[in-house]
Amino acid sequence: MLVHSFDVVVIGAGAAGLFCAAQAGQRGLKVLLVDHSEKVAEKIRISGGGRCNFTNRDATPAQFLGENPHFCRSALSRYTPQDFIELLQRHNIPFHEKHKGQLFCDRSAEDIINMLLAECDAGQVTRWQPCGIKSIKHASSPDGASANSYQIESNRGSIEVPQVVIATGGLSIPKIGATDFGYRIAKQFGLRLVEPRAALVPLTFDGEGWAPYAQLAGLALPVLIETSPVDASPKQRKKAVVFAEDLLFTHRGLSGPAVLQISSFWREGQPIRINLAPGVDLPALLLRAKATSKKLIANELATLVPSRLADAWVSTDPALQKPISEATDKALLGLAARLSDWQLTPNGSEGYRKAEVTVGGVDTRDLSSQTMESRQPGLYFIGEVVDVTGWLGGYNFQWAWASAHACAQALTPAF
Ligand SMILES: Cc1cc2nc3c(=O)[nH]c(=O)nc-3n(C[C@H](O)[C@H](O)[C@H](O)COP(=O)(O)OP(=O)(O)OC[C@H]3O[C@@H](n4cnc5c(N)ncnc54)[C@H](O)[C@@H]3O)c2cc1C
Repeated sequence: MLVHSFDVVVIGAGAAGLFCAAQAGQRGLKVLLVDHSEKVAEKIRISGGGRCNFTNRDATPAQFLGENPHFCRSALSRYTPQDFIELLQRHNIPFHEKHKGQLFCDRSAEDIINMLLAECDAGQVTRWQPCGIKSIKHASSPDGASANSYQIESNRGSIEVPQVVIATGGLSIPKIGATDFGYRIAKQFGLRLVEPRAALVPLTFDGEGWAPYAQLAGLALPVLIETSPVDASPKQRKKAVVFAEDLLFTHRGLSGPAVLQISSFWREGQPIRINLAPGVDLPALLLRAKATSKKLIANELATLVPSRLADAWVSTDPALQKPISEATDKALLGLAARLSDWQLTPNGSEGYRKAEVTVGGVDTRDLSSQTMESRQPGLYFIGEVVDVTGWLGGYNFQWAWASAHACAQALTPAF
């Protein structure tokens, strides 16, 4: 049977795989890029609402989670957002900044995919897709011992190769090709895994408890949001991550950038805390209204927070369905406290079906932060399959580019 030979096989033609293959090819390596899907980079295509938030101008290691938060430092410092911006400029791709350093394509995410494919062509990368991978094993040398290369069985034949890069991403959105392939290969070669879980994902709440808020579906408002363990000490709470972003009510729970951000930090059973009126001195304003107004509490509240929220909130408490002048100070202060520190415990998330990323993955203790090579010589992991996850806002693509670049610089020609 024909055995194909390359310097490196990159498995997974998403953001990280395409970029790594292109860079290695342009360094003169003979590269094969394989994907089981017919189309490459489906996640880039649907990202950023079709416009791909391809990086964040202000990306630093502080916006990444993982068991070892320092792991991402080296790769991020050696391939920066500015490097990727310059690549776009060389390809004449127009882009704009939307919010908090987030950069989006002016036209469509297709621009990024075409750029990556052009970069692969410039590196004479061979692409096989769709092409399934049946197995990866250490190749054996003529004397039967394990050789320093890998034997890959694919739908298009056998490949013997000294270096394999796994760039098969995380588990989110299985319907566009996500699989646990990378985790299985890591386990097969004795590497450790950090339990994967869905992240950047809407959170859901118990049906009955959520009923009063379900009528708010579609309402968006700016909030402060945080999550910390139930028994968190004041010191732990001080260190809790807080995001100032928009919250979106849905029929089943909460979404919007605020909740997507906090979902990456949230653990089952943990409450989230939301300030629904950041920057508004609710106690003072409600007490002042009590002294000067005869309007219903809901109507006064509607001057301070969105009126749909005011109505829904007041409707849950008969003691608040009266003119504000008749309310007790205690009731008004209680109302202010609940709105500025709404504590609620999600019963779960929308899961991988809706998650933008997967937290966890290949344990970074088993990878080199300089090269992304694993403890198995010649076996590399890049992109989302690694236990490095960015916040919402272009950080995950920046990790894909940076980890791919670090790996591509380390790959060597076979001869
Ligand atoms: C809806 C959505 C919107 C997003 N928007 C943004 C955004 O705007 N900005 C941002 O920074 N991040 C965004 N993300 C996250 C970002 O898309 C990912 O973090 C990034 O694509 C990860 O790159 P990757 O190359 O590691 O994996 P992927 O891009 O997921 O690529 C993995 C590739 O491996 C292939 N593959 C999987 N299993 C196999 C197998 N068994 N055999 C062969 N091939 C396989 C897949 O087909 C795929 O092509 C978004 C994600 C989603 C789901």
